[in-house]
Amino acid sequence: MKDLGYYNGTYGPLDEMTIPMNDRACYFGDGIYEASTCENFNIYALDAHINRLYNNAALLEIDIPVTKETFKNILLEMVHKLDSPSQLVYWQVTRGTANRTHFFPENTPANLWITLRPFQLSDIYKLKKLITMEDTRFLHCNIKTLNLLPSVIASQKAKEAGCYEAVFHRNNRVTECSHSNLLILKDGVLRTAPTDHLILPGIMRAQVLDIARELQIPVDETAFSLAELMEADEILVTSSTVLCLVADEVDSIPAGRKAPDTARAIQEALLEKYYRETAGRQ
Ligand code: PLP
Repeated sequence: MKDLGYYNGTYGPLDEMTIPMNDRACYFGDGIYEASTCENFNIYALDAHINRLYNNAALLEIDIPVTKETFKNILLEMVHKLDSPSQLVYWQVTRGTANRTHFFPENTPANLWITLRPFQLSDIYKLKKLITMEDTRFLHCNIKTLNLLPSVIASQKAKEAGCYEAVFHRNNRVTECSHSNLLILKDGVLRTAPTDHLILPGIMRAQVLDIARELQIPVDETAFSLAELMEADEILVTSSTVLCLVADEVDSIPAGRKAPDTARAIQEALLEKYYRETAGRQ
């Protein structure tokens, strides 16, 4: 198959899949999601993604009707149904199907969705441009919910400006981007906002911090300002579908690119880990 949709055990080509109108995703975006990539039919960082999904479900009191092990097995079974060994693997859990009420419906099991599409990792060394924008999202950004409208709008603004990402800031504190985390290198230290309620605890953010520690680069999880962003030696953008990118322009002003060897060392180590951990057909 070229692509695949899965909904509570039913699956088929994405175009042919349908879901009930009363799925609470439709009314409220009442659900959580994960996205990762797959090489050689191996889903990268699967345990980390599954753990975050279950943590988020607990935060929103969504009862996922299968164990972590079963969920992982469903995903691994599904990726083998696609022709392409490299895939974009997306999955979400919504709070069941019921007539529209704001409060939680009773006796409605959560719905499991999966979508799979062929994927090719883009060139991580291609430099990116960014714009900045006020962070108008809510105060639960640590939860990977389906409610993404401010991020959708920001991402569109970035696209219209010919940029890869929109950097959010709130009270002059840089938080993250519309669908990525943001880190800077300054005077040899890798700095990024702490994992509080203002940012998503990204899997790639954590992996880049681990790599920095392995490379003896000190790490500082303290938020930084817009001025500090503009004065950074390097600006790194991370997410599961792109790994770790470097930006050289913010709001049409040249930025970063003062420690290219360090940025490159981090990117190379991450890319090596990515291909090592997804090597060998399962
Ligand atoms: N921050 C936001 C708001 C995101 O939506 C994402 C990914 O979708 C990320 C950060 C990066 O997270 P991860 O590295 O887990 O893909």
